[in-house]
Amino acid sequence: MNVAQPIWENIYNLVKTEAPFQNLEVFFDQIEAHSWNGKELVLTGSDNRVVEHIRNNYSDTLLQFLQKKEGKDSFVTIKTLDMEQSFLREPTTKKKSAYERVKSEVYPNEIPLNVKYTFDRFIKGTSNEHALAASVGVAEKPTQYHNPLYLYGGVGLGKTHLMMAIGNHVKEQFPHLRVLYVTAEKFQNDLVEAMSKKKNLAGLRAYYRHADIFLIDDIQMIGQRAEYTQEEIFHTFNYLYQNGKHIVISGDRPPQQLSRLTNRLISRFQSGLMADIKSPNLETRMAILASKAKENQLVLPDTVLKFLAEKLRGHIRILESALTNLLFLSDLENRPIDLSMAKSIVRDLANQEEKNRISIDTIIEAVGRSFGIEEEKVKGKSRTEQVSLARHACMYLARKHIPALTLAEIATFFGRKDHTTVLHAEKKIKELLDNNSDFAKQIEEIIEDLN
Ligand code: ADP
Ligand code: MG
Repeated sequence: MNVAQPIWENIYNLVKTEAPFQNLEVFFDQIEAHSWNGKELVLTGSDNRVVEHIRNNYSDTLLQFLQKKEGKDSFVTIKTLDMEQSFLREPTTKKKSAYERVKSEVYPNEIPLNVKYTFDRFIKGTSNEHALAASVGVAEKPTQYHNPLYLYGGVGLGKTHLMMAIGNHVKEQFPHLRVLYVTAEKFQNDLVEAMSKKKNLAGLRAYYRHADIFLIDDIQMIGQRAEYTQEEIFHTFNYLYQNGKHIVISGDRPPQQLSRLTNRLISRFQSGLMADIKSPNLETRMAILASKAKENQLVLPDTVLKFLAEKLRGHIRILESALTNLLFLSDLENRPIDLSMAKSIVRDLANQEEKNRISIDTIIEAVGRSFGIEEEKVKGKSRTEQVSLARHACMYLARKHIPALTLAEIATFFGRKDHTTVLHAEKKIKELLDNNSDFAKQIEEIIEDLN
């Protein structure tokens, strides 16, 4: 039997319980205890980047725990077992067949392009003309135009529409080029899954590196402390870039404001052309509405068009949902669309927005859901650790997201007389956020849930 195995298991268990690392298994499950000679513990992995990552980030911790268990003069060596499997060599030979194989075996769930998202259906306005021109530039001269193109702007302003329009155009005009669209979130999930289930990681890399036009949407969704994902994106980026492929990225803000990203990734994203999309003005909103109405064979009187565009100033999805609702109502009541109908729909949408706004109840609901604790309990008196933590998280979130509430009001809500309870909770949560990345991730997910 391998004598190194129990030694390694001991240490691994210590690391797991005593060191606050996230996604530990993802890396360590790929590591094997190779040998132990009473002094040197040799760990091996077949993927040199996993090995390097562990070496760079966990060496000290591993050494510390090994010495704790086996004595001060013991040490750890981490090395790559089989360089042949290094992904860097992957795409050189039999490129196509490897790709096709991986595509059918591992990634049948590619995100399809929405065929409706075309340049034809994208209404140009002062808020988006640069982004549109840049996207058309990429679509018409793929691999020759500015590279990368980074598109940014708030929710529902047309980033995904433009990216997919690029994809659709290229597919039609240059059928020999491979278009690959992915969200940053899916990229991250694919990666984590491949690593944790010991799936074909080299295959995954080959798959993502096989694109001629690589469209990566919503880059801001990369999770906190997801260094490995960022590293992977970085290498994918470099690989594609150096091979003359085109990369388009979207984010909800300019790269330099994506505080979670590493500097080297930010500087890559800034190295080409950046174009922003702003909120459309009234004129553009009216044009978008008119075009969507036409798509649905819907006749909208000008008064209705103007009224909706004036009232619904948020993102464009809300204009679309107003249209759908109008269509529905007019069908239901079997009468043509008129201003009063539009008014009642705007009222409904406004109510919905109001309801969707964050309240202390929605916070408790979201926190309860995340912690698996009933709302009543969160609001109640129980002081068990989990319930207290959930309650503190609620107080913290209330402070952060409902500025209108005073400390005393928050305290009263949870049946506490003393407002310093809230300050105490806030402090505690902030400390936890800094020191426990799993918890930070959980809170982040709750906030996403709230929004
Ligand atoms: P984002 O990705 O920026 O959140 P989307 O691309 O999903 O936004 O756009 C939201 C909706 O608004 C989509 O249905 C899209 O077709 C529509 N839309 C956005 N901008 C325009 C535009 N300029 N012309 C027509 N439709 C648009
Ligand atoms: Mg989008």
